[in-house]
Amino acid sequence: MNGIFQRIYRTSSELIQDEVTTARYLLLVAALGFTAFAAFAENEPMKGYISHQAVNWIDALFAFLLFLGLTVVPQWRKYYKEFAYSLIYLLNIGNIYILYGTGFSQQYAYQFVVVYTISGWFFRSQKSYFLHTGIVNSFLIAVALLTEGSQLAGFDFYATYVLAALAQYILIRYRFAIEERLTESEQKYRLLAEHSFDLICVHSSDGTLEFASPSIKRLLGYEAEEMVGHKPYEITHPDDKHIIRTLNLKVPNHPSLQHPIQYRLRHKNGNYIWIETIFVALQSEDGETGVVLSQTRDIRRSKNYQLQLEERTRELERSNADLETFAFVSSHDLQEPLRMIANYMQLLKRKYAGKLDAEADEYIEFANRGAINLSQLIKDLLSYSRITRTELNKTRIGMNDLVSEVKRSVRLELDEKHALVNATELYEAEADKNLLQLVIQNLILNAIKYNQSKEPAVNISCEKSNHHLTYCFADNGIGIDPKHQQRIFEPFHRLHTRAEYPGTGLGLSTCKKIIERHGGKMWIESEAGKGARFYFTLPLPH
Ligand code: ADP
Repeated sequence: MNGIFQRIYRTSSELIQDEVTTARYLLLVAALGFTAFAAFAENEPMKGYISHQAVNWIDALFAFLLFLGLTVVPQWRKYYKEFAYSLIYLLNIGNIYILYGTGFSQQYAYQFVVVYTISGWFFRSQKSYFLHTGIVNSFLIAVALLTEGSQLAGFDFYATYVLAALAQYILIRYRFAIEERLTESEQKYRLLAEHSFDLICVHSSDGTLEFASPSIKRLLGYEAEEMVGHKPYEITHPDDKHIIRTLNLKVPNHPSLQHPIQYRLRHKNGNYIWIETIFVALQSEDGETGVVLSQTRDIRRSKNYQLQLEERTRELERSNADLETFAFVSSHDLQEPLRMIANYMQLLKRKYAGKLDAEADEYIEFANRGAINLSQLIKDLLSYSRITRTELNKTRIGMNDLVSEVKRSVRLELDEKHALVNATELYEAEADKNLLQLVIQNLILNAIKYNQSKEPAVNISCEKSNHHLTYCFADNGIGIDPKHQQRIFEPFHRLHTRAEYPGTGLGLSTCKKIIERHGGKMWIESEAGKGARFYFTLPLPH
């Protein structure tokens, strides 16, 4: 039983939602009602040209024609208001005519009041309502004045009429005020929803679509009506269905609704497209989810970029790893034969130097130097490729102690060049000690190597910001022209020949890689001939 009532309620509310249908049914009801009146009402004597029965027939016929018009000719549907209004005018004027004909018989006087009061409710704008009120009342007054000896002297009629008209007026003004406010705010939201580039939807708490903004057509190719009543889940890509399943739309503020989700929906043309949706479950008065809103945007472009980028990064990582393995394996395997060559060259030198001619001595010398250079290159290459292969073993490091340790290990080079290394009070760092030692050693050795000053000097200082520590190694060496400054951090990039300054071109790239592995950055500030300042940052220790 309950079900039947619900269905009747739902059907009638659906009918009422569509104003054209409502107008059609009202016209039909009016047509049938007046037919009944015309057929069964007693034919009272009436002065004038036509009987009140005839007036009822005219009303019935007119209502029926209007009903037919709205039903059969779809183009007329847009005039449904005008159709309804004209019937209302006809009924009221017809009633006034009957009042005139019957000399304001009491029965028809009340019929007029009832129809007049009800009909006011059908006007949808203040203008049409006031026009109707003005016209009908002018007619009534004119007819009342024209009717001699009528029962209109009856105080009852006037009192009832004035009260009913007043009540109708007050209630209708109130209705218009509410409607105006509603329309205003509804218009704003409608504008927002209908012109939004994003797709805006309203769902019930089980996800079923109740409203979709027109942008659904642009995004997914469907008309809004095609999708209403369905769940987005039905057109979700099979691989992404689990994402939708994790959402809990039934609980407002559920953690699963805090972030936008990215998934694929099937376009009407069958292709899947990437979209991003954020769901908001709104709480109803009983604390449960009332309605769910969703905002969806096309992310095809950025998703494609992201996928391409991910693929490229994977490729790069793969080739990087391959290269590092290659560098590691080859330099590792080269060490052994090279050591043998170097040893035999040493033997050759020791045994035969001065015993062959001068040219042979020179050749032996070249071969020896070549072997030493190659051995250094292999050592540097190995330590370069090891940086990403070894686990970082981070500890707290007293930087002044570490600098002193490095100074001790490069004592010979420093003494040979009469070089000085000064350090201010340095902040403690958190890093892999062996790797950081390598950085400091490289920077100090470079500072005195690329230096023509009589007293080469390196000044080490440190600054602390909210996010990191910045260490600076400033020297008084030959400096670097800004146009070469980026390249010196790339492997094997050297600005000098080996004859000018020995080296493999791997020192700074090794330093940069180590710093970057620790989450820091490395750069240089310098001008040719004015010394160089190398900076690197490290995250603040925990
Ligand atoms: P290497 O010293 O083995 O050549 P690096 O990677 O350590 O390799 O340095 C790369 C280049 O950067 C060097 O060839 C040199 O030209 C320049 N360079 C490095 N440190 C300094 C410095 N302190 N002053 C001037 N030039 C430098």
